[in-house]
Amino acid sequence: MKKHFIAAALCCYSSLSFAGFDVITLGDKGGIQDGNLTAFMLKSNTDNNYITLDAGSIVNGLIAATHKNAFSDMAVPSSSPYTQEGYILNQKIKGYFISHAHLDHIAGLIISSPDDSNKPIYALPSVHETISQHYFNWKTWPNFTTQGNGFKLGKYELTPLNINQWLPVANTELQVKAFPLSHSGTESTAFLFENAAKEAVIYFGDTGPDAVEKSTALDTIWQQLAPYIQQKKLKGIFIETSFSNSTPDKSLFGHLTPQWLLTELNTLAGYVGGDEPLKDLNVIVTHIKYSLKKNAVPKQIIEKELRGNNNLGINFIFTEQGDRTQL
Ligand SMILES: [Zn+2]
Ligand SMILES: [Zn+2]
Repeated sequence: MKKHFIAAALCCYSSLSFAGFDVITLGDKGGIQDGNLTAFMLKSNTDNNYITLDAGSIVNGLIAATHKNAFSDMAVPSSSPYTQEGYILNQKIKGYFISHAHLDHIAGLIISSPDDSNKPIYALPSVHETISQHYFNWKTWPNFTTQGNGFKLGKYELTPLNINQWLPVANTELQVKAFPLSHSGTESTAFLFENAAKEAVIYFGDTGPDAVEKSTALDTIWQQLAPYIQQKKLKGIFIETSFSNSTPDKSLFGHLTPQWLLTELNTLAGYVGGDEPLKDLNVIVTHIKYSLKKNAVPKQIIEKELRGNNNLGINFIFTEQGDRTQL
């Protein structure tokens, strides 16, 4: 009996000191594969509730994750009427974070909304405006939100984020801070999350490089992120690499290539300073496009271009739909 108490004490002490984050990939592509579009579930390792980072695919992602046993620690209670997927969607996802309203980031949320539970949609005001005007408007889809046109079904509270201000995420142990991103004329968003142990992850929605976008959006974020890396509190960066290096700047349309991602990460390294400042930093590469062309596997090309020029010793991570990843 005594042994068990000691084991429990050790377990909980260490999980508080090094909580980390759990990630489930619901969709790993930036387009065009309907059913596998950008979306991740995130929770602190010491928490039982998730939020999502974008919502391009939801139910297809939950089915894939169930098949891969990603929810082995979240069995459906026998009293619940739900399947595993239904239980996670209705009881365990406590909010959506939408970086911008392009369809490959929100289609899954819209399509699953009739069978979803009440929860907030967190976003910048410009993103909420697009969601209200163009999706939940009784023309393209019933208005499941608390604002906008016509009768409001009231399922989704559109909770605005203020730039660079912490907000507690309801029903989770996370808090969040939002930063605007430049995505070829569209305002996109990066979300910085902290858990109870003050560890952090940051998720970038679609973004172009500062030099091409004529922006300082990424530079501002790199400066804010540097102290977390200096204190070894940053557990991971989710960031896109949509196109391979063969894509000219004029055809990027607000996206990154391996070359541009490495350029941006070198800027971050400069702010962190010291010897090998980003060594072993987890960078989850998102938003690689599915290809319909023979002999072109964008993921293989992008992976090769990132790993081949990885002068910073970064740990690049490529996840697939349904994968569970620990950060
Ligand atoms: Zn996208
Ligand atoms: Zn986009």
